[in-house]
Amino acid sequence: MQTINIVWFKKDLRLHDHLPLYQAIESGLPTLFLFFFEPSVIALPEHSARHWNFVKESLQEIQKMLLSFHTKVYVFENEVIPVFEKILTIYKINAVYSHQETGQQVTFDRDKNFAKFCKYNGIQWIESQRDGVVRGLKNRNGWSEQWTAMMQEPIKKIELHKLKTIQVEDSFFENYHLLNLDKQVVKHQLQKGGACFAWRYLQGFTEERALSYTKHISKPTESRKSCSRISPYLTWGNISIRQVYQFVLEEKQKLPFSYQFPLKNFESRLHWHCHFIQRFEMDCSMEFQSLHPTLGKVRQEVRPEWVNAWETGTTGIPLIDACMRCVNETGYLNFRMRAMLVSFLTHHLLQPWQAGVAHLARQFLDYEAGIHYCQFQMQAGVMGTSSRFRVYNPTKQALEHDPEAIFIKQWLPELQSLPTYLAIEPWKMTHLEQHLYKFRLGLDYPKPIVEVEDSAREAKQLLFSASKTEIAKNETQRLLDKHVERRK
Ligand SMILES: Cc1cc2nc3c(=O)[nH]c(=O)nc-3n(C[C@H](O)[C@H](O)[C@H](O)COP(=O)(O)OP(=O)(O)OC[C@H]3O[C@@H](n4cnc5c(N)ncnc54)[C@H](O)[C@@H]3O)c2cc1C
Repeated sequence: MQTINIVWFKKDLRLHDHLPLYQAIESGLPTLFLFFFEPSVIALPEHSARHWNFVKESLQEIQKMLLSFHTKVYVFENEVIPVFEKILTIYKINAVYSHQETGQQVTFDRDKNFAKFCKYNGIQWIESQRDGVVRGLKNRNGWSEQWTAMMQEPIKKIELHKLKTIQVEDSFFENYHLLNLDKQVVKHQLQKGGACFAWRYLQGFTEERALSYTKHISKPTESRKSCSRISPYLTWGNISIRQVYQFVLEEKQKLPFSYQFPLKNFESRLHWHCHFIQRFEMDCSMEFQSLHPTLGKVRQEVRPEWVNAWETGTTGIPLIDACMRCVNETGYLNFRMRAMLVSFLTHHLLQPWQAGVAHLARQFLDYEAGIHYCQFQMQAGVMGTSSRFRVYNPTKQALEHDPEAIFIKQWLPELQSLPTYLAIEPWKMTHLEQHLYKFRLGLDYPKPIVEVEDSAREAKQLLFSASKTEIAKNETQRLLDKHVERRK
């Protein structure tokens, strides 16, 4: 029986800065590349077709690049272990190389089972660290230094021409849903997957867009252009954080003074990216429970009609509705608007964060469990590591960041003919104004489902008093010890 190695592509869909690939090539053994669309993962409520389409585009690009090396990625719509069992009927597998994954319970359980499977079958499973996320940490002391060291490590050159390949007939896998990606093309308006697009976005950012990065970061319209838009490429691994970090550092040296501050800001966000995933890696129960149990209990009752109004952008609060309709359509929203949507759901509507977490995950093209769950809990005020409860007033946000109601009118065409001040606060319209603008509040656009200021005050009060009990204070301390880095 021939001995082979396997590279299992996961959320690392690139052919550069890829340690598992590098190690497999160095091993000198013939190597098979695999990727799985796992039914158990596809079925998660956090995932949607737009994610899988992005992955398919990323894989199509990899297949094209591998053509000249006479190999390909075998892409399955199948659970993992049955395919490995099939491969074992004709090959001896020496090692499986992959990146570590900080995913949801389903992928964690799959990895535990896969580790047992490898042990039983005498296969080495060699997992490499993904970006700056360290496995097995008990606290965060020294983590930032480790992160910087990891980012500065030289990028290993992948020499694909040295790869020893093997050809397996597709017919060998005939009962295992092997996908032919050539036939899968979907037309859409979302960001397209693949390393080429990742680099295009990044270069466009450092060449020009970064100039207004800091100035426009919170503006719902302008940020779509001035932010890097690199997030889905990092989520699916079309580019590594290290590649982005080193590229930006190099570019910074060539760029004039006006770019230095925005790019410094951008760099710190790369650090946040790993910081949040690290938190989830160390406390993955966050997928189901609030990190701070006492604060998590403050809101329990779900009102489905309110959650539905939030999901469909029909709450009667224009900036909230515009943001939701925009993300439902385009898969993207800047940080502040994401935070405001969660704040509205959990504070103004007093819904538990669990009621909305999957909906937004499905919409965000960059859905990354580690960041998403942490951010959701943070904005809902149930993390315990921040003493402040962030409650965003959507009207104030509109006046500050969309003062001409350009974003609001783009996504809520029913408000287009209103003057700006009424498009931002349509509930203030008098009968005379409704007549004048041929607009019927409650028919053409909903009346607000809650009163913004009263509901915010009530939520803050509830959270604040819950946080003052002895049990709550002890929980807060435990979380600070575990998740906050003590600097030397
Ligand atoms: C409720 C909520 C859910 C979120 N869910 C996700 C998610 O699933 N996936 C995701 O990548 N980001 C998430 N974010 C963080 C942030 O909004 C996005 O990373 C950012 O908007 C992506 O746009 P960009 O690439 O243009 O960002 P830029 O501002 O250009 O930043 C560059 C990169 O830094 C990282 N980054 C930026 N801001 C943050 C942040 N606040 N926290 C962590 N990393 C950050 C991202 O990787 C981003 O691509 C969430 C934020 C909130 C409030």
